[in-house]
Amino acid sequence: MRILLTGSAGFVGSHLVERFLHEGHSVIGVDNYLSGQPANTALFEHHPRFRFVQADVSLGIPAQQEPLDWVMHFASPASPPHYQQHPIATLMVGAQGTQHSLELARAHGARFFLASTSEVYGDPLVHPQPESYWGHVNPNGLRSCYDEAKRYAEAITMAYHRHHGVDTRIIRIFNTYGPRMRADDGRVITNFLHQALRGEALTVYGDGSQTRSFQYIDDLVEGIVRLMGTPYHEPVNLGNPDEFTMLELVRVVQEVLGRPLQIIHEAMPQDDPRQRQPDISRALELLGWRPAVALRDGLRLTLEQVRGAQVISQERRPS
Ligand code: NAD
Ligand code: UDP
Repeated sequence: MRILLTGSAGFVGSHLVERFLHEGHSVIGVDNYLSGQPANTALFEHHPRFRFVQADVSLGIPAQQEPLDWVMHFASPASPPHYQQHPIATLMVGAQGTQHSLELARAHGARFFLASTSEVYGDPLVHPQPESYWGHVNPNGLRSCYDEAKRYAEAITMAYHRHHGVDTRIIRIFNTYGPRMRADDGRVITNFLHQALRGEALTVYGDGSQTRSFQYIDDLVEGIVRLMGTPYHEPVNLGNPDEFTMLELVRVVQEVLGRPLQIIHEAMPQDDPRQRQPDISRALELLGWRPAVALRDGLRLTLEQVRGAQVISQERRPS
């Protein structure tokens, strides 16, 4: 298959490129490096079935001469510090970026895949969150640039499906981690691992009783590949149902590092969801999918890469 993937230089995008190339597909990656990394493009630049186009998909996607089987829209800053630094670009890539991607799919008769998010549930009043829950979102708070962009992206995807007959898929991704996250993305797992390796105290926002459910990247990629093979148009949650408070997460990081860690409490960010846990019944029934990697194991794998990256950056530092 020939797959055009927006957001190919990002964390999730780079793992998808790797999986698709491994399976023998051709990939056209599109990214403007707003929150991605040139190093993620460099990983594949010499691969004969990979081509990269640097473009802002909110402005349009350069026309493609070759036929396309899939257009997959993964471009968007995803970490709260990144999307809050770029609130308008985040709204645009969820709105115009999604529409340009849908139009490209329509023009090529390709299938379309949208990366949505558990953030569409906001600070949820239903727990765990099934796809049928409509959410509890502040429409104009600090997180709204991301949450509402993704809610719009889902709406326009369903409109193209219903009105234009585009063959679409929507996933709602819950907190996902793994190798190749940007060291400065500000997400909790990135912060905790880097702080621990630098010998600093881990920054716990608020009292640390808020919860998240952390999914290892390989599980997400497997769920995506399975959904590509299933003609199902409603949203599907992809996440790991094992739920942890941030203080429990500190304990798991301690276990993985094998030493006690200091913590320091910092202010709770505005509208930070109190709890989050996917109901994955739909993915289980539809795709026979459930996550296979426990947090402890996924953190070990991530830590190896983070350690390696720290050694390289120290070696490059001028003396
Ligand atoms: P990321 O920031 O690492 O990757 C996003 C990529 O999109 C980056 O390479 C960025 O440069 C690119 N991009 C942003 N705006 C663009 C634009 N206008 N034109 C072209 N490229 C643009 O984030 P990620 O964690 O890899 O997330 C990928 C997708 O998955 C996003 O759509 C995100 O909303 C979704 N998602 C991720 C998570 C998670 O936990 N990682 C959770 C929920 C949803
Ligand atoms: N968090 C934290 N310390 C940090 C970064 C984040 O305690 O250094 C908390 C944050 O307040 C949130 C949770 O960890 O409750 C997950 O935050 P992240 O930014 O990783 O993802 P999101 O809020 O989008 O789920």
